[in-house]
Amino acid sequence: MPEKMILEAKYVLTMDSDYHIYSPGFVVVQDERILAVGEGSYPAEPSDEVVQLGNKLLMPGLVNCHNHTPMILTRGMCEGVSLFTMDGFINTLRRYESFADEKMASLTTPISCAEMIRTGTTCFADQYFYTDKIYEQVKKSGLRGVLAYGIVELGDAVSRERELSRCESFLEMAQGNTRVSGWVGPHAFFVDNSLELIQREIALAKKYNAGFHIHFATSNEENDYCLPHFGCSAAKKMEELGILEIPILAAHSITIDQEDIELLAKYPFYPVMAPSAAMRSGFPAAPVKAMRSAGLNVVLGTDNVCNSNSYDMFGEMGTAGKLIIHREQDVQAITPKDLVTMATLGGAKALGKGSEIGSLEMGKMADIIALDTSDIGWGPFCGQDFYTQLVYSVSGMSVTHTMVDGVWLMKEKLLQTLDMEECSKNLEIATSTLLERMAD
Ligand SMILES: [Zn+2]
Repeated sequence: MPEKMILEAKYVLTMDSDYHIYSPGFVVVQDERILAVGEGSYPAEPSDEVVQLGNKLLMPGLVNCHNHTPMILTRGMCEGVSLFTMDGFINTLRRYESFADEKMASLTTPISCAEMIRTGTTCFADQYFYTDKIYEQVKKSGLRGVLAYGIVELGDAVSRERELSRCESFLEMAQGNTRVSGWVGPHAFFVDNSLELIQREIALAKKYNAGFHIHFATSNEENDYCLPHFGCSAAKKMEELGILEIPILAAHSITIDQEDIELLAKYPFYPVMAPSAAMRSGFPAAPVKAMRSAGLNVVLGTDNVCNSNSYDMFGEMGTAGKLIIHREQDVQAITPKDLVTMATLGGAKALGKGSEIGSLEMGKMADIIALDTSDIGWGPFCGQDFYTQLVYSVSGMSVTHTMVDGVWLMKEKLLQTLDMEECSKNLEIATSTLLERMAD
């Protein structure tokens, strides 16, 4: 085992507080952490491993803040249906899910992990059922994850007790694991999670020091419930209940007015924009410019690939930029540098990991990706900045290397912890089993 691993590349994009870019540059990895980052080359000792990455660009791995990994099971199978409406969710998606089981979650999570590793995501936030099965597969993949146990209750007391108890068992199991951790995932407060359930979810999150990963303000359904029942907006009611003291990842945060934006900005509330899923569901863009102006840390996610349909966060950055600019009719509404920050350090901070990941800095965990700048789509290098290239010119297919905790998950586009052929085969087995069950 070499003492240190020295990565040398033509470009190192750090995303540190001064946005340093070194050319040529190096990143030194010792065990699971970054020992040094800088310009030029690092003095290697005989016991060190030096990895020459040539024309590559090194940068922090991307953070996907809204995902439902097993839903790859039905990728492309909800065409023409808006999954952002209760009708689409209940009558289409839940119909598929009623025939799915935990074995399918085990069979499909690895290919989702493989696609994330392949396209440069090193950390993701998930919200789904069968979380214990997802947890096992994510651990095997080597990715970093924050997995929220998804809870849908719909006023049913039996499912309330069952889901709370399963959620607690999962949180208990994931305790102490720093790479793959457990959160609470109420699908949507007030919409399919009752007031009684919400109060118990708050207690659970506090007990396990976990955050909430929810859907919020997707189509104003929370306000439609809260205004007649409590005489105030959902955000105000969440403040009154103490929910907002707990960190919240809130996909999709579309229908929030200015008053609630200012209220939410006082709390650890992180709106997640998943632009492809929103656009494919026929929904408008979230008010990202207003939220960022109020001080909210808006982050990015792909949502489920059932209708988003890709895990490529480079593509998602570009789509987000275009959608924000289009909504505001203002080319300066968001910059490429803002978008790369949202997908790296911003996402890390939203997951409570800002001091551990999200930038290439001494002492942080070694979550690093490399992109091949001699690939098509990059040039010219003399006039563009790297943020523009990363957001609008290239895709995740330029990623050649992915590392988490100092361990290679992909080298020269070859997966190291997963077998793509087996992952693909298992997805076909799971989906064909699901379709056969539905046909019976
Ligand atoms: Zn979602």
